[in-house]
Amino acid sequence: MTVWDFGSRLDALAADHRLRVRRTVSSPQRPHLTVDGRELLSFASNDYLGLAAHPEIVQAAQAGAERFGVGSGAAHFLSGHSTAHAQLEAALCEYSQCESALLFSTGYLANLALLTALADRETLICADKLNHACLNDGARLSRAEFRRYAHGDIAHLRSLLDASDAKRKLIATDAVFSMDGDVAPLAEMLALAERHDALLVVDDAHGFGVLGPEGRGTLAELGLRSPRIVVMATLGKAVGTAGAFVAARRDIADWIMQTAPCYLFTTAAPPMIAQATLKALDLVREGDALRRALRENIAHFRQGAAPVATARGWWLGHGVTAIQPLVIGDNATALRVSDALLRRGIWAPVIRPPTVPAGTARLRVSLSAAHTFDDIDRLLAALREVPA
Ligand SMILES: *Cc1c(COP(=O)(O)O)cnc(C)c1O
Repeated sequence: MTVWDFGSRLDALAADHRLRVRRTVSSPQRPHLTVDGRELLSFASNDYLGLAAHPEIVQAAQAGAERFGVGSGAAHFLSGHSTAHAQLEAALCEYSQCESALLFSTGYLANLALLTALADRETLICADKLNHACLNDGARLSRAEFRRYAHGDIAHLRSLLDASDAKRKLIATDAVFSMDGDVAPLAEMLALAERHDALLVVDDAHGFGVLGPEGRGTLAELGLRSPRIVVMATLGKAVGTAGAFVAARRDIADWIMQTAPCYLFTTAAPPMIAQATLKALDLVREGDALRRALRENIAHFRQGAAPVATARGWWLGHGVTAIQPLVIGDNATALRVSDALLRRGIWAPVIRPPTVPAGTARLRVSLSAAHTFDDIDRLLAALREVPA
């Protein structure tokens, strides 16, 4: 049985300071959490607008459960597609200003579905090195030729596209990178996509709801629209509920719906979640005050964190989104800092390889409109003091 000895493999992960720890939260999602029976000030969620436990969304979920029950009972092509799903797809379609929107129960599944449907052995997929894991998995599952370019490196991307004579070419990128918080050069990428008749797949998990007029996302922020853009956005982050959707040209969305196993053969998300998300989408659309509060929190954090990073020899990411990485370096030091913060009642999660490149272990500080300046000042004071 020695080849199946996972105990010693887990021991090796632990020796490398790579074992992950699950903490159990017993309060609703918010900045002040009860975690394993203790109050913690959290910078560990993607609930950027503070909507995850909003009373109106909770009420909509309750009304949805009253009306539809809990389980959807089946996949969308059997009996699982409810009026709540249909209404939400129509609302998302209008909101993202695309011809079609297709719901999924998670973003991970949505990316697997869209890449396996749109790419095949005759396709070249060019992907940013720092893309989210599910874009990479989708690319591998599609059996396309899968090439990765250096992070944000347009010249490298251009050379991959130029060098290929694949029948179809597809570029895949995070819009806001999930561990660095910076924004992809989407305008240049779209120009390259046009030159090569390629599709541009944009994962806007961290921009949707936060960036752009009415929170319509990173593409709206940059004023980019094109029939060759396929956008995936999640509903479990800024929107505060769960699930994801793909918005695209009608033929593209229909092709994914008709052919992706990850769409066809999985149970539809509970209709009560779709009902809750419809309400959440209204709050996101009217959420300019929340977006302003978030932007002010980000600016306040960055202003305080820049001198701390310099003094301590850490590197503060240059992105101005809600994801603010403090890159510390080796795993053991990053863990010590994170543990010292925890002892002070502050939860800023440590992210290690292989999630990020070796030698760039970091605290991933994630800010929300629900944080106060006092919350952020407490984090900054602790960052100044903790032993490294
Ligand atoms: C969170 C995330 C996903 C996955 O979305 P889920 O709904 O959590 O499965 C996909 N892409 C990016 C960039 C993400 O950050």
